[in-house]
Amino acid sequence: MSLKKLLLLLVIIALFISVFAFDLTQYLSLDVLKEKQQQLNQLFAAHPFKVFAIYFAIYVISTALSLPGATVLTLGAGAILGFGWGLLLASFAASVGAFLSFLSARFILRDWVQAKFGERLDAINRGIERDGAFYLLSLRLVPLFPFFVINLVMGLTPIKAWTYYWVSQVGMLLGAAVYINAGTQLAQISSPGDVVSADLIGAFVLLGIMPIIAKFILSIVKRRKAFKGYQKPKLFDNNMVVIGAGSAGLVSAYIAAAVKAKVTLIERDKMGGDCLNTGCVPSKALLHVANVAHQARQSEHLGVKADNVQVDFKQVMQQVQDVIGKIEPHDSVERYEQLGVNVELGEARIVSPWEVEITQNGETKTITTRAIMVATGARPLVPEFEGLGNIDYLTSDNLWSLQELPERLVVLGGGPIGCELSQAFQRLGSQVTLVEMANRILGPEDQDSAELLTKQLQNDGIDLRTGHKAKRFEQRDGENILVAEHNGKEQQIPFDRVLIALGRQANVSGFGLEELGVEADRTINTNELLQTNYPNIYACGDVVGPYQFTHVASHQAWYAAVNALFDPLKTFRVDYSVIPWVTYTSPQVANVGLTEQQAQQQNKAYEVTTYDIGELDRAIADDNAYGRVKVLTVPGKDKILGVNIVGPSAGELLAEYVLAMKHGIGLNKILGTIHSYPTLAEANKYVAGEWKRANAPQSLLNWVEKFHRWRRS
Ligand SMILES: Cc1cc2nc3c(=O)[nH]c(=O)nc-3n(C[C@H](O)[C@H](O)[C@H](O)COP(=O)(O)OP(=O)(O)OC[C@H]3O[C@@H](n4cnc5c(N)ncnc54)[C@H](O)[C@@H]3O)c2cc1C
Repeated sequence: MSLKKLLLLLVIIALFISVFAFDLTQYLSLDVLKEKQQQLNQLFAAHPFKVFAIYFAIYVISTALSLPGATVLTLGAGAILGFGWGLLLASFAASVGAFLSFLSARFILRDWVQAKFGERLDAINRGIERDGAFYLLSLRLVPLFPFFVINLVMGLTPIKAWTYYWVSQVGMLLGAAVYINAGTQLAQISSPGDVVSADLIGAFVLLGIMPIIAKFILSIVKRRKAFKGYQKPKLFDNNMVVIGAGSAGLVSAYIAAAVKAKVTLIERDKMGGDCLNTGCVPSKALLHVANVAHQARQSEHLGVKADNVQVDFKQVMQQVQDVIGKIEPHDSVERYEQLGVNVELGEARIVSPWEVEITQNGETKTITTRAIMVATGARPLVPEFEGLGNIDYLTSDNLWSLQELPERLVVLGGGPIGCELSQAFQRLGSQVTLVEMANRILGPEDQDSAELLTKQLQNDGIDLRTGHKAKRFEQRDGENILVAEHNGKEQQIPFDRVLIALGRQANVSGFGLEELGVEADRTINTNELLQTNYPNIYACGDVVGPYQFTHVASHQAWYAAVNALFDPLKTFRVDYSVIPWVTYTSPQVANVGLTEQQAQQQNKAYEVTTYDIGELDRAIADDNAYGRVKVLTVPGKDKILGVNIVGPSAGELLAEYVLAMKHGIGLNKILGTIHSYPTLAEANKYVAGEWKRANAPQSLLNWVEKFHRWRRS
């Protein structure tokens, strides 16, 4: 705790104790108020402003210090200042005092509480960020919750200070009015309990839940409003229509069929979408071949001489297509039809919240549905660089029909796709220049994971140009040139082919969303149920983000499909708490949970434990001893906050941590689990062992040492 926080805490405690030590609360009793009422009335008549000021100060201080006596002070406002002035002063004083108490709790304790219980508070934090004003208003209106508890607890949440102030001011007004009104007839009150009857408390409770009921009604009205102007069909052809047969669409349709819903899946291009045809599968197949070529070239020091390694690029690309062909049946029309999905190959267009038009071979038909699942994916983002229009550029979409290995390939973008494809082409024989605007590759990845990969890419011979901002493309004497800015100077990078790998753009237009008014920015806007502003239109996968991975697309698809089919009977909020991802370069870079940089940004305390894969028996035997496992834990505890692995099969090693994080398993349990020898997975046990050594109970060990010494004597 910082010195400032400690000082403030000590001041508050000292003030609190003094109030009781000097028995000041005795003055905040109903009897004293009644006894002194006449004197106070006279004082007010003689010095109204002084009385205002003193009353205001006492009220603010007692509320800020969470002292008992607010009821008597409020009754006193009515008895001495009258209803109008009393209400004005008491309600402002109560709000200001509550605000100070809220700010103190926030300043002294919030960071600590959020750091310690952050994950467990995630759902509460999200709820407060979304609906905090409603909850607070309800709490303020219901006199069953002690106000000082509300002040302190709210200070620990992410509610905005201004929202807290004004909602408190409004919420306390009614309660204050009741007490001040009672105060105007003080003689008839023998105890504070006389002011509010059980009926009145009941009325307050009803009033308190009104904001929540109002919010519920509002959401129903908003839902209905979205449908205004559209005629709902009396009968539906489908329970759900899914647009797009990529990872997200396929899983949505699968789930719908599995729960016996009638579902139509529409795909305008190839079944399997990006992942199968232009993404994960071909890129991994290409990397595999590139790694075989690389190993063949690098095998001489092992005693294996593969002279003159040649790459037949056409055959390589055929191999990639063969791999796609072998996986294709998993995503085929036949398989999905067998599962009970009606598959339509054509262009889909949403024409109303319940109708989807399908255009196939120039013919159009319309089908009706209760729910629509938008799973239209994303496409490569190609910014409008000057001169790019004159260049026959490559993207992950058209790369797979390439028949000639480019001699000089420029890859624009140092994200996962850029890094994987750079290494693949370099290892296949191209001279690759990887151009990245930022100062390092793999932006969101752990800093030193990125550095470890950087070294390997450079060892491979890739010309890695970080801090280079692509400006324009030129053609001079038949040569293509990328002009990039580096440290304020222009640099010319000649190339034969350029691959644009600058991210992916969601497919949100051209199929009826804009006409309907489905809200979208760069991706479709959805709530936690993956529902758009149309309650029966859902979305999942790359078109929603924020994580554009196949496994996230299918994860979302489960939630979206179940919600679309069973809302309002049962719905589930999509859970993004444990999301792994892997960059499949050599070495692989794998991550789950927080990186060190993210932990620092979020002000989360953490402890780092690393294990060098260079020391691992299996990695040494495989001649692949490079990388490390890095685990972030809660200080002094074995609870895992994040894991970053760089090394051979890092993606496979990560699975143990994904399971551990998902199910709250700590490093102690990983350490206590047998890992076969010699496997790469042993690295996970060894890092747990490193953690245990660093967290060994030293004083206990000192005693144990003494015990052994004694037994030897
Ligand atoms: C080179 C590359 C490598 C990748 N590697 C990995 C990896 O290793 N691991 C990983 O997890 N992710 C990887 N990804 C990302 C992964 O491919 C995507 O996250 C995943 O494919 C998203 O699935 P989706 O269903 O949301 O979208 P998509 O797979 O894009 O599917 C959307 C489908 O909708 C169809 N469609 C669109 N509009 C219409 C319409 N109006 N009517 C009918 N059909 C329509 C499209 O034709 C498409 O088939 C990679 C991506 C690329 C480009």
